[in-house]
This record gives sequence, structure tokens and C-alpha cells, in this order.
Amino acid sequence: MQRKISRRALVKGGLIAGALIPTMGLMAGSAAAAGLAPLDPKDPTAAALGFVADGKNVDAAANPTFKPTQKCSTCAQYQGKAGDASAGCNIFAGKSVPAGGWCKVWAQKPAA
Ligand code: SF4
Repeated sequence: MQRKISRRALVKGGLIAGALIPTMGLMAGSAAAAGLAPLDPKDPTAAALGFVADGKNVDAAANPTFKPTQKCSTCAQYQGKAGDASAGCNIFAGKSVPAGGWCKVWAQKPAA
């Protein structure tokens, strides 16, 4: 027995799949960030890069170019989206960093 699939059914299925796939990607990203262990400031690489979990604790004398607007949440390496309390970082694979953190690698996130 052969079953015919109408063009309408194909288009409808394609539209639904097209709408769901980006949503699934966002959910997977959030789930992945939620499962990451927080980066320890005492981690040798983190310490070498001056990482602090709270930008208020940046050593201004050792980092004269630091500005209070520089936070993980505004960094190009931050994998989170606006409003996320923490997220992954491209520099510290497998770890999460808080939105208000900072390190010497900070670079302005490009405008969306
Ligand atoms: S590279 Fe950017 S997002 Fe990662 S810890 Fe440093 S400032 Fe935060």
C-alpha cells in the first residue's frame, strides 16, 4: 500500500520544523550552560588572566585599562544571552563565568 504525501503536508511539516529547530538550539545552549561548573578564580589559567567573579574586585592598579562597563556579559567570548546570570566562555572551555565577572581577555562584544 502506497501512501501519498500531499504538497500541502510537506510545506506544513517544513514550516513547523523550521520554527522548532532554532528553538531547540536555544534550549540546548541554555541546558549546556546550566551544566557547566563555575570557573574557580584560583584555577591557574584564570589566575594568570586576572579573572574575578565580580568585576568590583578587579585590581585597578594592575589593570589600568579596566572600566566598570567591562563585564563577562559584554565580552565577545561570553556565550550567554542578555539576562543570563552565568554562561560558558570561549576561553575557559567547560566552565561557566558569571555575567558580572571579568578577566584580562575581555573584548567588547560586537553589537547585535
Ligand atoms: S574572556 Fe570574557 S567572558 Fe571569558 S572570563 Fe574573560 S571577560 Fe569573562
